[in-house]
Amino acid sequence: MSDFIFTALAAQGMLRVIGAETTDLVNEASRIHKTSPVATAALGRTLTGAVLLSKQLKNEQDSLTIQFKGKGPIGGVVAVSGADAYVRGYVENPFVDLPLNDKGKLDVGGAIGKGFLSIIKDMGLKEPYMGTIPLVSGEIAEDLAYYLAYSEQIPSVVSLGVLVGVDKEGNDLILNEDDEKSPFVVKASGGYILQLMPGADSNFIDELERRVAAMPPVTWMLSDGVGMIEMIEMLLKGYDMTKPEIHPCGYRCNCSREKVKSILVGLGKKEILDIINEQSSASVSCRFCDTVNVFEKDELKEMYDNM
Ligand code: ZN
Repeated sequence: MSDFIFTALAAQGMLRVIGAETTDLVNEASRIHKTSPVATAALGRTLTGAVLLSKQLKNEQDSLTIQFKGKGPIGGVVAVSGADAYVRGYVENPFVDLPLNDKGKLDVGGAIGKGFLSIIKDMGLKEPYMGTIPLVSGEIAEDLAYYLAYSEQIPSVVSLGVLVGVDKEGNDLILNEDDEKSPFVVKASGGYILQLMPGADSNFIDELERRVAAMPPVTWMLSDGVGMIEMIEMLLKGYDMTKPEIHPCGYRCNCSREKVKSILVGLGKKEILDIINEQSSASVSCRFCDTVNVFEKDELKEMYDNM
């Protein structure tokens, strides 16, 4: 099955469950940005987080941006989601390479370093809503959980995983020889958010914490063929759960030649004239999908004349 997001209510309405499988879209992001393994993990977790949080959006035009900004070698990670759970994103330094951390895992926290997480929600109001917190670990899931608990007062468990060509025992990264642009294959990617609803009883919370701590990593289970819904059912065994509502999700950039053109026009007459005089054409590449739009001199002159 290709990528999807699902939601359900569990434990007599005490728990809201949001889960997603995102292997295809993280592969797509990694192919576009030619990311190193640790950058793939950082971007993949952030994109998956954006997919999951898209459930907070109500209207078709709403969007949500997750922005990690740190002092580490990756610089920053950005993911944007629409209300339809289609996402796009990039990392500032896609080629960052770090040794595995002391747990033998890709060192996402080290790549991001100390810094801040901001979440920006554009819900069509005059000003977008923005909240910022200092990073807890830079490991993405932990930071998102902290954000939800402290900025939005929603106690949440967040689990995200991206398995980059690594098997359970070793750490060999597998080369995908079919595609030179994408040297590393994302074998599995996904995650879930469990949100406690107001009034959830403390016994349930304790039990949930125990169970979450005892669960194997999301990526191991996905690569073993355990689907995300099945995983949540295992986690909540013995509790009731409503039938999951399932929707597709994926990677999609919404840039267009027209949008790029309006950005160029927005630079102002003087800038456009400088480009016309100094360069034969202007080429603008999109940070999210790497599409390059070239505007020739004639077109730039026409733009200038119409300003
Ligand atoms: Zn684009």
